Amino acid sequence: MKIILPDDVKVIVSRLISNGYEAYAVGGCVRDSIIRRVPGDWDITTSARPEEVKKLFKHTINTGIQHGTVTVMLHHTGYEVTTYRLDGEYEDGRHPKSVEFTNSLIEDLKRRDFTINAMAYNDETGLVDEFDGREDLRSGIIRCVGNPAERFGEDALRMLRAVRFSAQLGFEIERDTAAAIKELAPSIAKVSKERIHTEFGKILLSPHPEYMGRVYEYGLSRYTLPELDSIAERETALKLAGRVPEKLFFRYASLLYELGADGVRNALKSLKLDNRTVDGAVKLSGLHGMELSDDEKEIRRLASRCGADWFSHALEFEACYYEVTKQKTLAEAAEKARELFKTITDRGDCLDTKNLAIDGAALIACGIQPGKEVGRLLNEALELVLENPEINTRERILELLSLGPTTHK
Ligand code: ATP
Ligand code: MG
Repeated sequence: MKIILPDDVKVIVSRLISNGYEAYAVGGCVRDSIIRRVPGDWDITTSARPEEVKKLFKHTINTGIQHGTVTVMLHHTGYEVTTYRLDGEYEDGRHPKSVEFTNSLIEDLKRRDFTINAMAYNDETGLVDEFDGREDLRSGIIRCVGNPAERFGEDALRMLRAVRFSAQLGFEIERDTAAAIKELAPSIAKVSKERIHTEFGKILLSPHPEYMGRVYEYGLSRYTLPELDSIAERETALKLAGRVPEKLFFRYASLLYELGADGVRNALKSLKLDNRTVDGAVKLSGLHGMELSDDEKEIRRLASRCGADWFSHALEFEACYYEVTKQKTLAEAAEKARELFKTITDRGDCLDTKNLAIDGAALIACGIQPGKEVGRLLNEALELVLENPEINTRERILELLSLGPTTHK
């Protein structure tokens, strides 16, 4: 088995080896290389202690020295070089409570979560695959290294990671591994929301967002996103998640739109998601079921009310929803509305007061008192322009607001 290592990785591995240490590319990068997926990053595992790694490279960062990790910088890219270690129990963070260094690669591989993530490689030794990860990669199986219940006991997040890798790779979860997840699901409650939503995000943006259904089936959502358990049309929600654009707010809206805007806000806030994702999903859920007009004036009014970008996202969401639920007439109405809206934006029709041919200063120049009245008149002008975009000229607007050429100097 030959894996083509990037030049920087070769440099790091061979420098460690020529200084008397062992060193291998390990984990996700080996897994991804074998299945011809592009690795996100290249991690290195070594028998050298952190201080020894630091001595061998010019630019290093103490990423997690206490856990044995030093980042080696080469050509502006960081490579995490981690000393062989045995892990104790994990605390509610990214890292185990205690670590103990070891001189055995196999011991280091043993602490890793799944067989497919527990392979190491260098050009001298080739592939080190103590737990038959390659075979599981070939058969499409996520299987714990060692006893699943023990491994999930050390770090409950691994249960969600199992679903996440299954979604990213389109794999099945091996029987004993799945059984242990079902049994230990409640222990996911002690994992931080940040770690949880990171895994949800990876599931939702994977080729199989519908595998969020497994999060429910294994009983994990009850302790992480309990709202998912109360969704009546779960099949629709999961299918929809696989149909909408590849954006987190679309995907969360797909899962939870049934809860309405407030319900979605509460659910996503308690997951501690960022505001952009929360607001987006709230907006789409709030607009779900919106009127699908085939009248340009009406479409301009609706778009103006919710903002052009959101209106466009919402129409797309609605089109996907009616397609997934096979409501042909409504799906067509949504498509028609999208076409009309495209005509409207291509033409550059004014949809907000900012794009009116007049502004507050122009009104004040016509003798309007600064303050509320200016705003009221601008809104009135917008209503007129939404009705008929052609009148969006300074003269016509002033005329229609009865501030015509006579009062205007
Ligand atoms: P990704 O493509 O998401 O980066 P990855 O497999 O590289 O996937 P990371 O979270 O970057 O995953 O972790 C790197 C490696 O560290 C994993 O392949 C695995 O061997 C090990 N690992 C990471 N997190 C855990 C964990 N919670 N328990 C056990 N091993 C872990
Ligand atoms: Mg990684």
